[in-house]
Amino acid sequence: MAESFRSSTSPCQTSSRALAEAMQRHLFFSQAKSPSLATRHDHYRCLALAVRDRLLHNWVDTAETYTQAQVRTAVYLSAEYLLGPHLDNNLVNLGLRQEAEQACHELGLDLEELIREEPEPGLGNGGLGRLAACFQESMATLELPAIGYGIRYEFGIFRQQITTQGQQESTDSWLAQGNPWEVIRPEWSYPVTIGNHTVIGVAYDTPILGYGVRTTNTLRLWAASAPEALDFASFNAGDYTKAVLHKMQSETLSKVLYPNDEPEQGKRLRLSQQIFFVSCSLQDMFRILRGQGLPAREFHRKFAVQLNDTHPAIAVAELMRLLLDEHRLDWDTAWGVTTASLSYTNHTLLPEALETWGIDLFQQLLPRQLEIIYEINARFLRMARIRYPGQPDKLARLSLIEEGPHRKVRMANLAVVGCHHTNGVAELHSELLRRHVLADFAELWPDRFTNVTNGVTPRRWMAVANPALANLLDDVIGSHWRRDLTHLQALGKHTGDDAFLQRWRGVRDASKQRLVQHIHQTQGILLDHSSLFDVQVKRIHEYKRQHLAALHVVERYLRLRNGEDLPPRTVIFGGKAAPGYAMAKLIIRLIVGIAEIVNMDPAMAGRLRVVFVPNFSVSLGQLIYPAVDLSEQISTAGKEASGTGNMKMALNGALTIGTLDGANIEIRDQVGADNFFLFGHTAEQIHEFDRMGYHPMPWIEKDPIVREVIELIGSGHFSEGDRDLFHPLLANLTSHDPFKVMADIGDYRQAQNHVDACWQDPSRWARMSVANTMGCGFFSSDRSIQEYAERIWKVAPVPVEATTRSL
Ligand SMILES: *Cc1c(COP(=O)(O)O)cnc(C)c1O
Repeated sequence: MAESFRSSTSPCQTSSRALAEAMQRHLFFSQAKSPSLATRHDHYRCLALAVRDRLLHNWVDTAETYTQAQVRTAVYLSAEYLLGPHLDNNLVNLGLRQEAEQACHELGLDLEELIREEPEPGLGNGGLGRLAACFQESMATLELPAIGYGIRYEFGIFRQQITTQGQQESTDSWLAQGNPWEVIRPEWSYPVTIGNHTVIGVAYDTPILGYGVRTTNTLRLWAASAPEALDFASFNAGDYTKAVLHKMQSETLSKVLYPNDEPEQGKRLRLSQQIFFVSCSLQDMFRILRGQGLPAREFHRKFAVQLNDTHPAIAVAELMRLLLDEHRLDWDTAWGVTTASLSYTNHTLLPEALETWGIDLFQQLLPRQLEIIYEINARFLRMARIRYPGQPDKLARLSLIEEGPHRKVRMANLAVVGCHHTNGVAELHSELLRRHVLADFAELWPDRFTNVTNGVTPRRWMAVANPALANLLDDVIGSHWRRDLTHLQALGKHTGDDAFLQRWRGVRDASKQRLVQHIHQTQGILLDHSSLFDVQVKRIHEYKRQHLAALHVVERYLRLRNGEDLPPRTVIFGGKAAPGYAMAKLIIRLIVGIAEIVNMDPAMAGRLRVVFVPNFSVSLGQLIYPAVDLSEQISTAGKEASGTGNMKMALNGALTIGTLDGANIEIRDQVGADNFFLFGHTAEQIHEFDRMGYHPMPWIEKDPIVREVIELIGSGHFSEGDRDLFHPLLANLTSHDPFKVMADIGDYRQAQNHVDACWQDPSRWARMSVANTMGCGFFSSDRSIQEYAERIWKVAPVPVEATTRSL
């Protein structure tokens, strides 16, 4: 591992002894405790603070280098960052993992236990937020001058408990015990006016460490606070409670992360959150620009700003407002600067997930920005009318405003018009954007559309999550895969080597045993690590089709009860459903009901187990992804933009059963069709179903097994005799089946039978597993970021110089 490090990465030359002493010092000087009173959390904090001390030189030097060099900077605007715990990742990226283990040992502590003490910052819903986190880490590792901006939600994504009733939500107070990884910067705070209120955004900085380099970038998250000085001036003396109330209202802005797929309610606060963090971030960029003596009209030379979905798309109007009203540029210059600065990543093909905001709400909260949007639209449509004379339908589709009784602002249209590039996140997704979702824009501006296939960071998702695999790779192909994942190709020389395959299986088995132990300790269920681990962990959504996998489990249950001999399987589900998404919650309820019956049935012992792991998160992902034999990536073709869970599993040696959707297609291309279990209709065919009118009944009629499965569920077998509980789900599947579960279930069964056959030949499975890891080097987020930097941002690496400091 040491070989891929530059020798002077850790300027302190930290030894384990020095680290242990630093922890002891922090127990006294930071935690103010004697050893006899110290809790495990105290020890975690001491280690975190000792590690933080050791990254500060790099962090300060990075800021210094960027200031001195006046470098072009990539700016990532994202409403979500699903970071996961920092400690282990920072240890690995600093090259201090072994020292920390030794230091803890010297103090009679267990490093793994301390790592588990860190509450994870769950500031995202799922894939989109996790992508933002992987991208931050890759930008630092590639030594790119970059800054990430977002919101410091006091409560992240809700905690999920699973009872016999299904999902229960509670709040995630991740900050309750403090956060040793952030530094507050009250000197960098900005006012944002929303309606008649002004809120102040205060910066909280978190260091983002590159792997094996000095570069330590900043993630700057905004917390809302009230401008007290203003308040006291305007309130009557003595009306203290009113002043406090106003303070509380202001702070509400960054209180809580919105779960995905929630209905309309509470939208006012969400639009407020968007303008809040976008405006703070843009004002901060102007502060940096000013600090370097550059005028506002040079903004686009200094900053390349990426919008992660439409959540920050208000940046188009807000940047225009700042350039026009605050910096006094004329319209054409301001528009030139704006469109040269911004670029936009689209993340969804689901039409209902494209953001729009009612004009009335917009007018109330952001009147000036709405005025600017109207002006952008007027100029844009004037141009479009010349290009498309006599085509009012086309102009109506292009317009930034959706007309009708409830007029709305279309944020995706605003983003495309105001950005120099729009990209999708996998080849198929970008293709479908060009052909369907944004077809009119792609016709107008073909050169603005491009693809950047997503990736994941091999540091967190391999080196940190799967140390046993990392060690094996180091032994066999050397350690360079951590910074250039295409090195995994070198495994090709070893696929015929029996001793290597034996070690490979040992590594996989160890990961599965680690998960078995966790599930036993937390849920009291004992699993067989030698069975096939069949896993679907991701947000619960009908388009992801957890119900398809659940129906297949019921089918296996029936076949086993009929005396069929199937290889032992453990089916593991995990993922959160939006609290207001009834159908997704019912799917969880179904899985829990199935698990209860299957796991109690003596006839299933040693053959089938079903587990729903509660509160799926980054930490749990680190435990689960390496333990997967079969990765379920079974979304309706044309619905999953990319997926990144599919990449994490394949990189760790799982085989995929999947549809031709999102990045599955590219994974299959890379690992070879023989090493991928393909099934299902194509996006094209699904599109045809929708055009011609689809009905599930003919599919059900010709499939006696699926009829039996539906009848069994409908009979109350998995709901303590309650025949009504799953009715909404079954009625949906048999009458509309919007996500074409019934059209694909037969083919899914065939593919699953093929899985069983392959699993029964362990050395064949091991070779297929190696082929998956070996082929997936393309899916590093380093490669994604390199594409953004070269093709979209035009940002180049700037290595960080060490400063000599007497600290
Ligand atoms: C990777 C990841 C996701 C995204 O999973 P998909 O299978 O791509 O939907 C969601 N949540 C967490 C915690 C993740 O780590």
